[in-house]
Amino acid sequence: MDISRFAQINPPPRLLMGPGPINADPRVLRAMSTQLIGQYDPAMTHYMNEVMALYRGVFSTENRWTLLVDGTSRAGIEAILLSAIRPGDKVLVPVFGRFGHLLCEIARRCRAEVHTIEVPWGEVFTPDQIEDAIKQVRPRLLLTVQGDTSTTMLQPLDELGAICRRYNVLFYTDATASLGGNVLETDAWGLDAVSAGMQKCLGGPSGTSPITLSSRMEAAIRQRRRVEQGIRTAAHQDGEDEMIWSNYFDLGMIMDYWGPERLNHHTEATTALFGARECARLLLQEGLDNAIARHRLHGEALLCGIEAMGLEIFGDRRHRMNNVLGVMIPSDIDGEQVRRLMLEDFAIEIGTAFGPLIGKIWRIGTMGYNARKDCVMQTLSALEAVLNRLGFRTVQGAALQAAWDRYSQ
Ligand SMILES: *Cc1c(COP(=O)(O)O)cnc(C)c1O
Repeated sequence: MDISRFAQINPPPRLLMGPGPINADPRVLRAMSTQLIGQYDPAMTHYMNEVMALYRGVFSTENRWTLLVDGTSRAGIEAILLSAIRPGDKVLVPVFGRFGHLLCEIARRCRAEVHTIEVPWGEVFTPDQIEDAIKQVRPRLLLTVQGDTSTTMLQPLDELGAICRRYNVLFYTDATASLGGNVLETDAWGLDAVSAGMQKCLGGPSGTSPITLSSRMEAAIRQRRRVEQGIRTAAHQDGEDEMIWSNYFDLGMIMDYWGPERLNHHTEATTALFGARECARLLLQEGLDNAIARHRLHGEALLCGIEAMGLEIFGDRRHRMNNVLGVMIPSDIDGEQVRRLMLEDFAIEIGTAFGPLIGKIWRIGTMGYNARKDCVMQTLSALEAVLNRLGFRTVQGAALQAAWDRYSQ
């Protein structure tokens, strides 16, 4: 093999303004370039405990079991669903975009009886709609997505915990895209499980999924665990319960690895943990409220600029995520050509769309390290230049001025 054909990795410089991944904070990259230590080195177990404490802050929770699942965001989703769902359990999934469908798909693999309610893409559910469905279905779990980047909508969750409590339903949300840039109150909202990822508002690389579990969720998972250890429970004898088929995603075992027992499970991904620790440390150092306000400010400035260009926004504005904007592609413009020119001539990546929105919207993110004024201004000026070049006439300069006006309010 001619090894000289393989150059050292040197990716082109890019400004990632899509729905994630985004550019990692350089401080996170520096944390990830430090040397490895052994997995039971007291320094390492100390870092693991610090990570648990830091992510309690990020998730706004007192939950003891707040830890990392190694793998991308869907590793956290799978670990929770696999560990919580018993075959045959009814689950309810309110679907308002692609990631609701992902929850259904994973829940079906867990052999749940999956029930869905749907709203058109660009809308969210009212608490009443969800309560009505819970009354009808009587699920054991409610599986929600907080911010679905496919539609840029943010599902209000604050009233759902009380509803779930009333009907004895376990309440989960996928907060991958929203955490750190939008309010999420794990304890105050009565969430039993939340999972997230690094590559959105947390400003890190994908590959680690922080999760948090309430004591109710822990109890549900521990019950499965006893079955697995061979202790027969009533549920087991009735054939209702079964062993969790994944070793890697068995949260009972992962808790025993992160807890004081330190029972060997996987080898914790040290470098990824250093990165995740730095993401949380930076977020809490900034202050969660300040970080959310920053995402709101830059999201609004982008929106002002987009509208000043004469472009339309996709979806229900009252329920927009702070950190990603759906922009309608003008009818006589080829959306992919715009993305190509943005990338080739300006080194800026903006997002395409999924499913019913393919060819209809771009998705522009302002999140994590890229929720910054210079990133917004650069993206607006590049998009305006590209659109004018392709024949979509704007009042040139108006977008930048409108965003600038928002910043000087
Ligand atoms: C981006 C996103 C994910 C990403 O999952 P990965 O496994 O990290 O690719 C998951 N859920 C939601 C809601 C997202 O927006």
